Formats: sequence, structure tokens, C-alpha cells
Amino acid sequence: MTAHLAPVAPFDLVIFGGTGDLALRKLLPALLRRYADGQISHDSRIYGVARQAESDTSYRATVGAALARAVGDDPVLQARIASFLELVAYRTIDATGDAGWAELAAELLAHGEARVRVFYLSTSPQLFVAICKHLRDTGLNGGNARVVLEKPIGHDLTSAAAINDAVGSAFTENQIFRIDHYLGKETVQNLLALRFANALFEPLWNAGRIDHVQITVAETVGLEQRASYYDGAGALRDMVQNHLLQLLCMVAMEPPAALHADAVRDEKLKVLRALRPITGDNAAVATVRGQYRAGAASGKAVAGYLDELGNRDSRTETFVALKVEVDNWRWAGVPFYLRTGKRLAERVSEIVVTFREVPHSIFDESAGRITPNQLVLRLQPDEGVKLGLMLKEPGPGGLRLRHVPLDMSFAEAFGGHQPEAYERLLMDVVRGNPTLFMRRDEVEAAWRWIDPILSAWKDIREAPKPYTAGSWGPSAAVALIERDGRTWHEDTL
Ligand code: NAP
Repeated sequence: MTAHLAPVAPFDLVIFGGTGDLALRKLLPALLRRYADGQISHDSRIYGVARQAESDTSYRATVGAALARAVGDDPVLQARIASFLELVAYRTIDATGDAGWAELAAELLAHGEARVRVFYLSTSPQLFVAICKHLRDTGLNGGNARVVLEKPIGHDLTSAAAINDAVGSAFTENQIFRIDHYLGKETVQNLLALRFANALFEPLWNAGRIDHVQITVAETVGLEQRASYYDGAGALRDMVQNHLLQLLCMVAMEPPAALHADAVRDEKLKVLRALRPITGDNAAVATVRGQYRAGAASGKAVAGYLDELGNRDSRTETFVALKVEVDNWRWAGVPFYLRTGKRLAERVSEIVVTFREVPHSIFDESAGRITPNQLVLRLQPDEGVKLGLMLKEPGPGGLRLRHVPLDMSFAEAFGGHQPEAYERLLMDVVRGNPTLFMRRDEVEAAWRWIDPILSAWKDIREAPKPYTAGSWGPSAAVALIERDGRTWHEDTL
């Protein structure tokens, strides 16, 4: 089963940071796939920009090698790489200097004002201000220009507002696409479909029927190449402020009147504003910070965070668990438990909605315990949806109940390649559809909620709790949920 693909109009895409990890590992492979599917026409242009001196030819060789790695042994994509590389060019520009901008502007403006121009800022956020200033000064911000901002947008509310102000002085809000690739995942969009295209769930989607929600984003990797950025950020800023809060918003928001960008974003904003503050008063009971020690990952011995970082004094958290309350009518008394971390037991991202227990059991004890229904939305690996139901075990010998899943893997159900989030999101930018991107007020509302947690942690001055690499985090995270008589979801279905 293949989705209907609407080709996009020819465009120019300039990737600042075109030689970086994100561009080579994610953005360019996503563009290749869209090109191979016929969605991107051959007269579109993709420019890599960075300081390193490269020619078009040498950059194409770098991109070609990265694409070959990314597509593995897929013969159809391999066969399309050479023709895709004809779209690709390279311009050497230091974002902080003045050289090269006029030439870039002349080249792009010669393609006509009406042509869609996308500037993807795949660089450190420190460069966002300089890049936007140059784009404005060279007149590249007009017409159908769009700018895409990668996370992190700031490290607190003040710095996020400063970046937003600077970008806003070159581009209007509807030209700015703040990307959170979690929102491009099929499962997240399926959450919208499940909730709002089925009559089944919405009547149950409230405190009367739902016991609690868990959101887990677990990684098995350690620091990788991001040591200095990560150590300055930590898990709360790096993952919760954006990805986990965005997922929470998609679960908790009221039905928007239509699937229009502002209608959806207005509803998400209301959720962010309804989050009960976590401050010095409740931070100790509602949050857990952890940092991994040596252990094992994917069967191999791995060093602890401090050794990997080469700094024994760091107090940066590589794990965080939170109990979050949404203070509104729909969710009063329904906790949202969030956890994310590095060097955890498995790479898994999921949302688990646990419904309330049946009010009364008509079955004998011999039938077994009635487990509450659970809806599990798997974001990775193997995107899919699973609904846990109580059913009768087949056969004679009395009635025994079993918790069994209705399990739908998207790969199995729909077949073929499941599109990467960046494929969808990049095409949305070209089409000018910002529904799955964060608006300025959302980003700032998220920081407004995160900042007091950071300052409470600073005041508490407690070192992060150690956990062994390859575990599920510190025991305090287990205690956080068990205090409420609940447990973290394990895939037992
Ligand atoms: P990276 O591998 O360090 O790449 C940075 C890129 O920026 C390089 O192409 C670098 O090339 C270029 N650059 C640095 N200084 C420059 C300057 N003054 N002028 C022009 N270009 C400059 O970083 P990355 O991992 O690709 O990440 C890029 C951004 O995306 C970061 O903000 C990161 O937090 C975010 N992000 C990354 C990922 C990921 O999976 N990698 C995921 C989510 C978000 P030169 O040194 O040659 O200039």
C-alpha cells in the first residue's frame, strides 16, 4: 500500500551546516527518498553551506558516500543517488563573516522571487542570529522564503526569546519552522488519527476513564559526538523541553476545530499553560535526575558518563523522570509520568495510556486478575499501535482471562518503507504547512515550565543519582511511580 504523493513545486534548499552529522545522516537521505519517489523534481536545488573549503564535486562525493551508507542495499535508492547528486551544490561561507553572501543571494534571487527558498539552519544555535541577519541584509528573506530552526532553541526562556526575536527580525512567524522531528513520526500523526478519526477513543479520553499516561524516550547510546553541547544541556533541556512535552501535548490537547496549523498549536499551547508548575516545593518528589555509570550497552562494556566526558566533576543529568500534572477538567488527577535517558536498557520511544480498572469483576478468582486496558503507541523501533484487551483463553476447563494485544505494526500493515520523520517534515516546509512545527509561544511556554525545575535543582544542589549503563535508570525513578501504586510499562504483551 503506497501513500498518494503530491509532487512539490521546484525549490531551493540551503542547508547551513551541510557537512554536519544531521545533514549527512538525516536530511540528505530524507531528500533522496522524496526524490526517488518522484516528489522532488529535477530542477530543484540543494546547497550545502559550511566554512570548510569544498567544490561542488568534492561535496557531491561526500554526500554520495553518506547516501550510500544511509540507504544500505536498497537497489532502487542506490540507483537514484547519481541523478540526485546533480541537484546538489556547495558554497563555502562562514556564517559569522561577510564573504560569500552576496554571491549566494545573487544566485538564489536569479531563480525568481516566486520560487520557494528554504534555509535549514543545521548548525549550532549560536549561529542562528548571524545567519538570519545575513539573509535579511541580502534580501533573501522575502517572497516565498522559509527558515527551519533545529533544536535547541535556547537553553532557557530568556535565551529562547532572544533567538526568537533575532530570527523574527528577519522572518515573519509564518516563515519560521521550528522543527521537532518527533512530531513527524507516523505514530504521532496516528495519535491524531486514532483520537479524532475514530469515535471509539475520544469519549474515554479523560480523567473518568484514564488512570495515567507514561511517555518514555529511552536511548542506548551514550554521548556520541555531542559531548560539549550535551554536558551544557542535560536530559531535561535536550529531550523533555521539546520532544517529551510535545508528545504530552498531542495526547492531552483538546480536539482542534480543524487540522489547521494554528488550531492545533493553540490547543497544544493550552496544555503547556495548564502544566502544574514544578518548583522548589515539589521538585524533590516530582522529579528524579540520574547519571550513568559504567555498565553494558548492546552486550558490550561501556564507560560511565564522567569517563566518557573526561570530566569527573560534571553534574549533568543523563536521565530524568518526572511526574507531571495537567491542571484542567479533562486531566485532573491523571498523572503523566515522563522518563528519558541515555545508556538505558533498550532503545524505545512510546506513549502508554493506561485505562482505569473495571468497576466490578463478575469473574471468579480462578479466572485470573483483570489487567486494565492499555493503549501503547510505539514511536521506535517498529512504529505501531497496540491495544491490550482482556480475553478468554481458548479451550475447555473453566474460564481463564488473558491480557492479549491487538497489535498493529505499521511496517506489516502498510508494507514497504516507513517514511522517516524528516521526509515528511521537509516536504511540509516546502509546501508551507507549519502544523507539525512549533510556534514561538509554544517553545517559550515550554521553557517557562522547564526553567523553575532547573532552578529548583540548582537550589537543591543534589548530585544526579547514579545508574548502571544498560539499566532502566536510577531506583529513585522506580520509586517515583511506585509511590502511586503504579509501575513503568514493560512490554509484556
Ligand atoms: P555538526 O556535525 O557539528 O555540524 C555542524 C555544521 O555546522 C558543520 O557542517 C560545520 O561545518 C558547520 N559550521 C560550524 N560553524 C560554522 C560557521 N561559522 N559557518 C558556517 N557553517 C558552520 O552538528 P550536527 O550534529 O549536524 O547538528 C547541527 C544542529 O542540529 C545542532 O544544533 C544540533 O543540536 C542539532 N541537532 C542535531 C541532531 C543530529 O542527529 N545530529 C539531531 C537533532 C538536532 P564547518 O565546520 O566546515 O563550518
